[in-house]
Amino acid sequence: MNYDIIRLKKGKEESLRRFHPWVFSGAIASMPPELEEGTIVTVLSYDGNVLGTGHYQKGSIAVRMLRFDDAPIDSAFYSDRIAEAWNLRKAAGIINDRSDCYRLIHGEGDFLPGLIVDVYGATAVMQAHSPGIHLSRKIIAESLVNLPGLGLKNIFYKSETTLPFKAGLEPADGYLIGNFETDVAKENGLLFHVDWLKGQKTGFFIDQRDNRALLRQYSCGKDVLNMFCYTGGFSVYALKGGARKVVSVDSSAKAVSLTERNISLNFPESAPHTAIAMDAFKYLDDMADGEFDLIVLDPPAFAKHRSAIPNALRGYQKLNLKAFKKIRRGGIVFTFSCSQAISKEQFRLAVLSAAVDSGRKVRILHQLTQPADHPVNIYHPEGEYLKGLVLHID
Ligand code: SAH
Repeated sequence: MNYDIIRLKKGKEESLRRFHPWVFSGAIASMPPELEEGTIVTVLSYDGNVLGTGHYQKGSIAVRMLRFDDAPIDSAFYSDRIAEAWNLRKAAGIINDRSDCYRLIHGEGDFLPGLIVDVYGATAVMQAHSPGIHLSRKIIAESLVNLPGLGLKNIFYKSETTLPFKAGLEPADGYLIGNFETDVAKENGLLFHVDWLKGQKTGFFIDQRDNRALLRQYSCGKDVLNMFCYTGGFSVYALKGGARKVVSVDSSAKAVSLTERNISLNFPESAPHTAIAMDAFKYLDDMADGEFDLIVLDPPAFAKHRSAIPNALRGYQKLNLKAFKKIRRGGIVFTFSCSQAISKEQFRLAVLSAAVDSGRKVRILHQLTQPADHPVNIYHPEGEYLKGLVLHID
């Protein structure tokens, strides 16, 4: 294809030969002057061999690779990638009669850097994290609705907060195809209102599906505290699992009301549930010793950048310590970090240090991560972000 050419410095082609999806700006020997952000480029080695084709962008990640040859990036390309991603979800057993809510495209994990697509029934919420994907949003939306069997009718574009601010693209959130039908999605037979218009991310944290299902198994007869509850996902599963009482806490009043709506949706009669709008750290400080025997800690990413790692680790340590100190003897803690910048080992050390400070006997029962609809490209370990531990506290 006749795309603009970016040529790499000598010896800088190795990571692309190993299918790493990014080209850093420092690796570039030459490129056209004033290349527009989002332009499709062909990347050549210093010797002129084709390494692949991707989207150009200003900043330290200069090219996000879409393919490792120079074939076209057109609607057939997007349709093929989407079909592959859909087949993977079907093979993993994620799409079935009990669930119509899943991540269809997980950026680099589905060889489509910069693109996130979450499906809620007949509606897909699409997020662009790169100018190239933003410029291609219409052909991507068409490829999504045109894939036979996928069953999508509405494509909502939600990129106001995810695109690089400096690119000056001013994307407006809204439907690219179709319109609002219903905001109710089904996960493992449970129902959830999903607020893609105003909610965080695409409206729901699909990545915790398997971990919520695991929590259900631990909930029978338990007093459960769900910290950072957002849509109340863990709370609904705990109640389905037979919890004696569930308390959901979130600092956002909107999240608390969404949790209450989701409890009523699944338990129209009544449920032993209370939702409280409060800071999680304060709630843990104020609560009585031994009030709960199951605590979920699923905070927002404490480290959004590498520079924030030391503070974030102190945050995880502090939060876990508060829960360990107060949980009933023989209690269970589900503790998570969704900070991409923090490794599994760093998170585990923060939890270890909380365990030591609490003076309690702590054992690891499960080590959790993101589910199969959030695949990790093995050449791009940065894609693995969700870490969790299920702990038994004596
Ligand atoms: N557990 C949720 C996802 C949590 S997202 C799920 O399974 O869907 C993180 C949530 O933490 C957000 O809803 C946000 O409002 C809330 N939050 C952020 N800071 C907080 C704080 N200091 N105290 C309590 N909640 C907080």
